[in-house]
Amino acid sequence: KLYNQVQDLKGSIRVYCRVRPFLPGQVSSCAVGSIDEGNITIITPSKSGKEGRKTFSFNKVFGPSATQDEVFLDTQPLIRSVLDGYNVCIFAYGQTGSGKTYTMSGPKNMTEQTQGVNYRALSDLFKLAEQRKGAFTYDIAVQMIEIYNEQVRDLLVNDEIRNNSQNGLNVPDASLVRVASTMDVMELMNVGQKNRAVGATALNDRSSRSHSCLTVHVQGRDLTSGSILRGCMHLVDLAGSERVDKSEVTGERLKEAQHINKSLSALGDVIASLAQKSAHVPYRNSKLTQLLQDSLGGQAKTLMFVHISPESDALGESISTLKFAERVS
Ligand code: ADP
Ligand code: MG
Repeated sequence: KLYNQVQDLKGSIRVYCRVRPFLPGQVSSCAVGSIDEGNITIITPSKSGKEGRKTFSFNKVFGPSATQDEVFLDTQPLIRSVLDGYNVCIFAYGQTGSGKTYTMSGPKNMTEQTQGVNYRALSDLFKLAEQRKGAFTYDIAVQMIEIYNEQVRDLLVNDEIRNNSQNGLNVPDASLVRVASTMDVMELMNVGQKNRAVGATALNDRSSRSHSCLTVHVQGRDLTSGSILRGCMHLVDLAGSERVDKSEVTGERLKEAQHINKSLSALGDVIASLAQKSAHVPYRNSKLTQLLQDSLGGQAKTLMFVHISPESDALGESISTLKFAERVS
């Protein structure tokens, strides 16, 4: 029994790396040498002109040709466990432009084939709930929030969420909307997207500098025993992880950068200490980790997608992303 629990725990943090393809019109050399199942090799130029190589290992590496379908297939078991009462967190990490939003939501002009993890997750949950109809009834409800400069905003009503709980955070106060179909979800995501854009001007697209989180609450009722199972899943599109040059930014941008830096390292610290099974997990160091505290650690399951841009220009950021990922896996 204990052995099984330990095994479970060991498998509770997964890290997938995804390398996006070159974008149309992008001309640059490629920094990615090779990819196989779980390894990615990065080519690092050296002063003498000789190439260096460094390999990083993860649970899985998706190359530029991996489809949304393939990526989802490896995510599906985790999502399904929500219906069995597990808490799940899925994160998208990486520098701006590396493909986080593509993985989680999809591209701008989305087709069914390019839908991201969040749409697929919800439609899978509805499908499974339908299949289990004779044995269970399920209630599914969603929340959408954004964390910007350590302030939490309810994206479904475009309102800041006040702190009045002991935890300092009160996400239960964010609007919780029942959904019964993928259409409902699509509509809500559109509302969330619009509200997210409200705070931004054309020149100041904030979305890459805030974390956005779609939370799915599932309550299942066993029709025979009457017992209730609760599970929840957080799908988090993180702020861009790129370092900004402190000598070049001032004022608002510097403040944003400091907040992002602080919350991403807090997240890294939490996941790393969970991975190492250390006795103290530092949840309190950022809004993001406070918010997700109940869904990180314990019986909860975590999946981190780390995103890499393939071009050599992005090498520095790619290496720091891979190092972050290695630390939490
Ligand atoms: P991020 O959210 O990390 O800033 P995006 O998801 O917006 O990055 O991706 C940047 C650009 O690259 C977008 O135009 C997106 O459609 C494209 N892109 C990202 N990943 C892929 C992929 N796997 N396949 C095709 N295009 C991609
Ligand atoms: Mg994005």
